[in-house]
Amino acid sequence: MSRVYNFSAGPSMLPEAVLQKAAAEMMDYQGSGQSVMEMSHRSKVFMDVYQEAQALWREVMGIPENYKVLFLQGGASSQFAAVPMNLMVKSGKADYVLSGQFSTKAYKEAARYGDVKAVASSKEDNFSHIPALDPKEFRPDADYFHICMNNTIYGTVWHQLPDTGSVPLVADISSCILSKPIDVSKFGLLYAGAQKNVAPAGLTIVIVREDLLGEPMECTPTMFNYKTMAENDSMYNTPPCWPIYICKLVLEWIKNDIGGLEKMEERNVRKAQLLYDFLDSSSLFKGCADKADRSIMNVTFVTGDKDLDAKFVKESTDAGFVNLKGHRSVGGMRASIYNAMPEEGVAKLVEFMKKFELENK
Ligand SMILES: *Cc1c(COP(=O)(O)O)cnc(C)c1O
Repeated sequence: MSRVYNFSAGPSMLPEAVLQKAAAEMMDYQGSGQSVMEMSHRSKVFMDVYQEAQALWREVMGIPENYKVLFLQGGASSQFAAVPMNLMVKSGKADYVLSGQFSTKAYKEAARYGDVKAVASSKEDNFSHIPALDPKEFRPDADYFHICMNNTIYGTVWHQLPDTGSVPLVADISSCILSKPIDVSKFGLLYAGAQKNVAPAGLTIVIVREDLLGEPMECTPTMFNYKTMAENDSMYNTPPCWPIYICKLVLEWIKNDIGGLEKMEERNVRKAQLLYDFLDSSSLFKGCADKADRSIMNVTFVTGDKDLDAKFVKESTDAGFVNLKGHRSVGGMRASIYNAMPEEGVAKLVEFMKKFELENK
């Protein structure tokens, strides 16, 4: 068996220890005589998996008691609608910052349900940085203020959160969840698709402050109703059982093998630094994101020559570094170095880039 270094933006690598544990438990989960894939979601054996996953989320992320953790489906993209349906119910207004494609999609979706305002945008610079904010643009009566924390396509991240006063801050954290500690109490709601740092595709995590669980808009489908989902332990219908189980294994890996989110962050910073240091010293490759806003999860870069970019993508793939092609809206390359990417994978990629640079001067 030979495994590649997978730099996919999502779905992406899972920790090898997690895959091995899942394989070992595949046919007979802890003496139950079944795979987790086959279990009734109401059975005691699965309910234990669910409860352990819930407890681990709280422990690993330090989630305060007055927040609910929901295990939903539909991906982060469903939350683009669910957030306004559930939260935009007092003044009917919400403010959005456009820092990339996903935040723009979220904004456009929310515009179908109420009065949304784009308070800042970095579109004119092709989202190469987090836009500057003018707090005078913020509406104090907005029901919430939405940001996308880590911009997966462009490789930028919010290093400092906006001060929204009493307006609840809502963040899409799909591509940075569990990459470092987050002070959950600063947010009204956090959401993420699981397929980058948490589990296989199919699970969506919503962390929501309890006082925001009210009556959603009349038009809200039951499956999008946070209150219904919270009251039913995310089991109003069949939950995504298998991704919930893998997310439990991933959280155990962070807690026991890595040593928690502070350690996870140290490791992620070391990996990103290795790549950024090389990009800053290279005469061939150049980073795309503004230095001040660089992400530790997604690293975007170009050679400045489209043909050479294509050659790099082909040769790196042949050498076992896969999915390095950048998103079409940025071009060039993108190395997504989520939690599961080992430090060795990044070090070997940098070695490969050095060799490519020498051969293509
Ligand atoms: C991947 C991603 C999404 C889309 O997630 P889906 O689960 O495919 O809907 C949204 N936002 C961000 C920041 C992402 O990285």
